[in-house]
Amino acid sequence: MASPTTHRRSTRRRRTVLISAATVAAAGLGAGLLAMNASAAVDLSHQVLPAKDGWAADGSGTTGGSKADSAHVFTVSTRAALMKALGADTDSTPKIIQISGTIDANTNDAGKKVTCADYAAGTGYSLSAYLKAYDPATWGKKLPSGTQEQARDAAKAKQQKNIQFRVGSNTTIVGVPGSNAGIIGGNLLVQDVNNVIIRNLNLSATEDCFPQWDPTDGSTGNWNSAYDSVGLRGATHVWADHNTFSDAPAFDSGGKTYFGRPYQVHDGALDITKGSDLVTVERNLFSSHDKTMLIGASDTDTDSVGKLRVSIHHNVWKGITQRVPLARIGQVHIYNNYFDTTPLNGYAAKYTIDSRAKAQVVAEHNYWKLSSDRKVAQLLSGDGTGSVAGAGNVVNGTATDLVAAYNAANSKKMKTTVNWTPVNTAGLQTSAAKLPTELASSTGAGVLTASGTTAK
Ligand code: CA
Ligand code: CA
Repeated sequence: MASPTTHRRSTRRRRTVLISAATVAAAGLGAGLLAMNASAAVDLSHQVLPAKDGWAADGSGTTGGSKADSAHVFTVSTRAALMKALGADTDSTPKIIQISGTIDANTNDAGKKVTCADYAAGTGYSLSAYLKAYDPATWGKKLPSGTQEQARDAAKAKQQKNIQFRVGSNTTIVGVPGSNAGIIGGNLLVQDVNNVIIRNLNLSATEDCFPQWDPTDGSTGNWNSAYDSVGLRGATHVWADHNTFSDAPAFDSGGKTYFGRPYQVHDGALDITKGSDLVTVERNLFSSHDKTMLIGASDTDTDSVGKLRVSIHHNVWKGITQRVPLARIGQVHIYNNYFDTTPLNGYAAKYTIDSRAKAQVVAEHNYWKLSSDRKVAQLLSGDGTGSVAGAGNVVNGTATDLVAAYNAANSKKMKTTVNWTPVNTAGLQTSAAKLPTELASSTGAGVLTASGTTAK
């Protein structure tokens, strides 16, 4: 039965072996061949985080829903079907959820579009009434309360019920290759659960219809939004791999300004907070976003001491304003990433890595493309208590000591030693030179095939 399909499969298998053999010959790694062939035999949906692949490989590792029985392997293409497949986040039955095509989170159970006005209907909320009620000129600098804030809360609850997808323990959510899989306007919330894999998804346009005015946020006050595209809160053993994050198609530059501050409808792209721990963020594309990745939500977050251990490797970041990431408290390994500070869609980099609240960051063998509007000293940020160790970083093709440049220009010095040595470093390349070209075709959603190899 030599059907064309069978023939193609065997050709691909042969090619995999050849590549593996070449890799083994070049690197002298005998064990590598066995490991690569073993993983190639398992389809994308059932794959687990490889051994030693970042902090999520620590201890019991990260297997997601790979142990799911056949009754718990779902393919979904609507919001309602995704909700149903996820079930209650307290249900830890292993499950694999394959998303086929693009799911719009702002739709009803019949698949019909739901607008911000639809959520507000019947709650008494209107933006004009909210602005009138909490104008700092008359309301002052206290937190909003009363009729319009209660109405905002009610409208917010209606949107949240639609767009917030709560993920249980032992779950894999994966995009079906070739289907442009993803979620528009959604919030994957991974809260107080363990062992979750999120792969091959386009996650875009996560927007809060009802930003809250906080006059106490900073000296000027700020509009804050509630939803990250992916939010990890008290989550452990999470692998986020080959996803694409973006605000597209509605960028902050096209947004409104009220009370002198941007009416911010976006929160984080991938935030890791509330004592989350053992996370690997790998081969994602982050683009066109402001507050991209928070690791730890507060300088005084005692719940996170000894946690917030995160590995971030082989990701591409372009058109990002800040928090790339903003790291607090934890042991964070940032390696083989490509940061491009060139302004994009109105997003211009204020800084990339912020290490504060005693964060223990090791940043090594990363590549920065520095645009002419930026200086090397602006690539880091900190509060004088955070560390950034690590060598082999490159800026515009030249080996560069980012910490030395930062410390020469700032009074609150970055510390250069850390209290740990990374051990889960699978795939670490000790040369950053070729990352811009290598990562261009191997990161983000859409490059993985059904066998989990990259298409190119
Ligand atoms: Ca904020
Ligand atoms: Ca957030």
